[in-house]
Amino acid sequence: AVNHKWNFGAGPAMIPRPVLERAQAEFLDYQGTGLSIMELSHRSAPYEQLNNRAQDQLRTLLSIPANYKILFMQGGGHTQFAAVVYNLLAWRHRQNKAEKGEAGQGDWRAIPVDYVVSGSWSAKAVEEAQRLGANVRVVCDAKKALGGFKGIPAESTWVRSTDPTLDSKPAYLYYCDNETVNGVEFPFVPSLQGKDIPLVCDMSSNILSRKVDVSKFGVIYAGAQKNIGPAGVSVVIVREDLLETSESKNGLVPVPLMLDYKTMAKNNSLYNTPPMFGIYISSLVFDWLLNVEAQRIQDGQQAVANDQTVGVEAAEARNKRKAEKLYTALEESRFFHIVVSDKAARSKMNVTFTISATPKGSDAAVDKEADKAMEKAFLSQAEERGLLQLPGHRSVGGIRASIYNAMTEEGVDVLIAFLKEFEQQY
Ligand code: PMP
Repeated sequence: AVNHKWNFGAGPAMIPRPVLERAQAEFLDYQGTGLSIMELSHRSAPYEQLNNRAQDQLRTLLSIPANYKILFMQGGGHTQFAAVVYNLLAWRHRQNKAEKGEAGQGDWRAIPVDYVVSGSWSAKAVEEAQRLGANVRVVCDAKKALGGFKGIPAESTWVRSTDPTLDSKPAYLYYCDNETVNGVEFPFVPSLQGKDIPLVCDMSSNILSRKVDVSKFGVIYAGAQKNIGPAGVSVVIVREDLLETSESKNGLVPVPLMLDYKTMAKNNSLYNTPPMFGIYISSLVFDWLLNVEAQRIQDGQQAVANDQTVGVEAAEARNKRKAEKLYTALEESRFFHIVVSDKAARSKMNVTFTISATPKGSDAAVDKEADKAMEKAFLSQAEERGLLQLPGHRSVGGIRASIYNAMTEEGVDVLIAFLKEFEQQY
């Protein structure tokens, strides 16, 4: 009988145990107010402090420069698929007008927006932009280039407009840093052709997992439910000069108010009632990341005695160790197959693999029924051992172990031990 559960879910995902315990302890009485955080006014001093503190913590963790705003928004990643289109088309439309006067004031829907498609989520972002009528140019489609979402094609193969004329200058270049479903993670930051093409990045499933040079980006966004906190909060990090958007009164680009970065920034994410509980838990996660002692406890006996680093740097080192040992175990196994063939692009957050009853190197024909049965046995035995939420995304099947910041090295070791034990049965 196992009483410990290891949560390998892709999102909503595991939250660090010390965070859950602290939330439980503070649940009925938030900082001596006698009320829970959910019952306080979002205009109250304790909430305002929390709102500011959460932003400060995130700014520290990611070394976010002073000319970037941090916004807490709602509606998850999908809402940001639309928000980036509206906000940055509004910005570019305004830029064009400023540079070219009336001649630059054409139809905003004609302005190109460039996308890299490296997995299901960037493909969905393209769909949404098209639905809104944007002029989408796919500069790279990894599925076409590689016969599947199995890696990141070299930037030199992307088709990017080199035409410097105003009309072809895209409002932004969009990509998804870590494709949660496919397990593909960018090993580089795309370079920019032309200084004023903002880079827009969906970091929903790898934010805070590794260091990032925020100054390279126009917009970074992330739904919280993987590496930050509970579903319902999205973090948006946006360069201030891109906020010059609100032309909606003139009927130009009609940015819906709740999607308008400028409105959110002007109101310190308190334009309407924010998802306070989610922001509170996120702030506890930020605290946990900033606190080396809490991380030691989380890592148990495996804490690296000499490792004094805190925050994202420490998380990155741990994530690297976790991913390396899991991929190595899969590679060394007889029955497990890693989905992502491009080694440099294997995600350190979502490890996707399949199982085949025909051992590697065997001449025997593939038996799909046997593969299926073995996968089923694997998943049900895993669950019996408390290794939870391992089935792959419903669109692709297979197995996916999500090992975000909160997953301990011990948890990964338990999974690896189970992989080996499972193989011995055959
Ligand atoms: N982008 C990425 C990378 C994701 O992993 C997800 C959700 N799994 C989304 C966007 C969509 O997020 P949501 O469900 O919050 O709309």
